[in-house]
Amino acid sequence: MESLNRLVDYKFNSSTIKQSEDMSENKNILKDTHGRDHAYLRISLTERCNLRCTYCMPADGVQLSPKSHLMTYEEIYDIAKTFVDHGVTKIRLTGGEPLVRKDIPVILEKLATLPVELSITSNAVIIDRFIDDLKRNGIKKVNVSLDSLDEGKFKHITRRHEFKRVYNNILLLVKEGFTVKVNAVLMKGFNDDEIIDFINFTKNLPVSIRFIEFMPFDGNKWDISKMVSYAKVMEYVNEAYHKDDILRLKDAPNDTSKNYKIKGYQGSFAIISSVTNPFCDSCNRLRLTANGQLKNCLFSATESDLLTTLRAGKSIEPIIQKAVRAKFKARGGMDTLEKLQKPQLHGKNRSMITIGG
Ligand code: SF4
Repeated sequence: MESLNRLVDYKFNSSTIKQSEDMSENKNILKDTHGRDHAYLRISLTERCNLRCTYCMPADGVQLSPKSHLMTYEEIYDIAKTFVDHGVTKIRLTGGEPLVRKDIPVILEKLATLPVELSITSNAVIIDRFIDDLKRNGIKKVNVSLDSLDEGKFKHITRRHEFKRVYNNILLLVKEGFTVKVNAVLMKGFNDDEIIDFINFTKNLPVSIRFIEFMPFDGNKWDISKMVSYAKVMEYVNEAYHKDDILRLKDAPNDTSKNYKIKGYQGSFAIISSVTNPFCDSCNRLRLTANGQLKNCLFSATESDLLTTLRAGKSIEPIIQKAVRAKFKARGGMDTLEKLQKPQLHGKNRSMITIGG
């Protein structure tokens, strides 16, 4: 605990980051050439995870970055503060599994000092141990990854026996007053037969189930034939519920999901259709990887190294601006389904485990 207190006393050393005055005054470095302002930063805290989901973690694992190449909590804070100084208002912590990082309490404490909405995406296996840390640091929104309500299938897709812990922790998060969204990646012939079960899970539970179209990332053996489209999900829904009971909710600005609710149900459901109905026009997201690389898009094959520049004591703003200005209009340049299906294009990206979704 002493070492943690020593860590918390760390003062933000303005000399660590030389703010190049001319940059910040004149230019909104978070605005891209398509007029999109990027106020939402997703930070991957670690490449490690306590699950082994087949669509995220390649079968033979990933080459982890050496520890010295990973951002320290100070560097996470420094980089995050630069983005906040330029207009970021929302930071989501991801992984791998963010909660397996040993200094997560300090990271939460430091980032909680920034004027942002802080949230987290977790597989919820060990989240029960961090309820107080999350609450103390103002985290109210938790996204939980759960691809099946069937214990056997959960084991099959995660390669771990953790279904009960995850399920009970979702109930615990709701009981503790968190806003909970459950992300389920749909795969044909695996969990598409659970779509209605997932929606009925929201009957007496105020959670939002989000069905995610399976997307291509390095090593996840993606093929469009395995994907369950937005249209297909709505086919299941229209078969199962009376049309008057299916309510289309208003999507929030920059929302990645199309939101619905069954009349009288406490919760809601949504579809994230990056493959068949991308939502890039209103994209406001940037991603920071655990080894300090800036990805201007989930699908970008190129990245910008912020960490090396930070460690050299130089300003990272010009690099951020350059990366944002270089952002494609859609899906890292794979704007058509035909392009997205080209392995030589989508194969250049990282595996999901090292992006953090
Ligand atoms: S695919 Fe890229 S541009 Fe489109 S919404 Fe996702 S991050 Fe934004």
